[in-house]
Amino acid sequence: MLIDLHLHEKTCSPDSFLSLEEIVNRARQMGLDGVCITDHDSMGLRAQAEAYSRETGFPIFVGVEYFSLQGDITAWGIDRFPGHRVDAQVFVEQVNAAGGFCVSCHPFRNNNRGLEDNLRRVRGLHGVEVLNGSTDLEANRTALRYCRELGLQPIGASDAHTLAQVGKYATWLPAYVTALEDFVSLLRRSSTRPAIWNGTSYDVVDTF
Ligand SMILES: [Zn+2]
Repeated sequence: MLIDLHLHEKTCSPDSFLSLEEIVNRARQMGLDGVCITDHDSMGLRAQAEAYSRETGFPIFVGVEYFSLQGDITAWGIDRFPGHRVDAQVFVEQVNAAGGFCVSCHPFRNNNRGLEDNLRRVRGLHGVEVLNGSTDLEANRTALRYCRELGLQPIGASDAHTLAQVGKYATWLPAYVTALEDFVSLLRRSSTRPAIWNGTSYDVVDTF
């Protein structure tokens, strides 16, 4: 399945202009098989997103974009996260203890919210956003280099806050799942590949 792993919905991410309905409609038009909502330090949309996913038959997986002391990390398969900023290592250990999946988002984006060289220090991360829709190409290429060096899963995601950004990048997964626990277990055991929207369809790529 092709899925955009990082989107913000306006109810719980005040910096987003997107409603759940707009996200799902646009994702479907583009041929995506699912989306993830990863709001800033919030999983408040979970019940609403699960209901909307059932109603529309379109997979929506709610995770969180947690702002650790060293930078943003998206995570799925956890029920709670710290109410304040803790060390990235502490958060990643909590995710692993819960059997979840976590990704360093935009590690080299120029907004001081990426893990940057802490990528080499933090143990237990599963993936790296090598294609983040709000990050320039050079910084995404640096992320790809680190991802390969560390042997982590390469992830593509839009990080969309507006309609035009939805689905710019996505991630290819080797199976189709509809339940969050199946999604997390698929992520944990599979090789992911990033994908780029070319204006009509997706190109699944290993380098860019
Ligand atoms: Zn984000």
